Amino acid sequence: MNYIELTKRQEKILEIVRNHGPITGEEIAQKLNISRAALRPDLAILTMAGLLGARPRVGYYYTGREPRDVIAGVLGNIRVQEVQSRPIVVRETSTVYDAIVTMFIEDVGTIFVVSEEGFLEGLASRKDMLKATMGGKDINKLPVGVVMTRMPNIIVTYPDESVLRAAEKLIHHQVDSLPVVETVLHEGREKYRVVGRFTKTNITRLFVSLAGK
Ligand code: ADP
Repeated sequence: MNYIELTKRQEKILEIVRNHGPITGEEIAQKLNISRAALRPDLAILTMAGLLGARPRVGYYYTGREPRDVIAGVLGNIRVQEVQSRPIVVRETSTVYDAIVTMFIEDVGTIFVVSEEGFLEGLASRKDMLKATMGGKDINKLPVGVVMTRMPNIIVTYPDESVLRAAEKLIHHQVDSLPVVETVLHEGREKYRVVGRFTKTNITRLFVSLAGK
């Protein structure tokens, strides 16, 4: 798949630099039979994308990076905290009924369950709720703590983790959302303080905004 659309001329420039680099802008222009000025925007795009390198008095050289590496570079440099959403949390003692109402009101598919101090205890997804309602128990009495997935089996991400790494976790573990956490020491034990929510929607939004839409 070609991730970055290059124009015919940009492809030609890449080919020239690959075969003749390092090469000056003037020499590339001559080979293409165009003016140096006309070439400038294309050279700017190719160097900004990281496909070409430029060194003063030496010229342009091929970096060996593929368009695919450029995408990985961009996503690897965007942090989770730049795209995350607000976490929606309930207490472990909340009923399944109340947790479902919160999911509807807040329009989320996963709810995080936290302790009194705000530390991550578990999380419950739509399917966990469905399972609970199908179990025949009274969901007005059933605590969400009984149906949630519990620590330490929670896959988390961190504010300064790259969105690429976090997205890999979503895919690898086949889940829709990750709590964004900060590790804190509480009474001599490591705990996770929930500071955000990273979901497939965040990635979709980033995807569209990277395309300039
Ligand atoms: P859905 O319920 O809509 O299929 P998920 O695919 O996210 O949503 O959840 C599937 C199962 O994985 C649920 O039992 C849920 O509790 C669990 N789960 C969801 N997110 C995580 C996570 N970040 N870490 C561990 N388990 C999770």
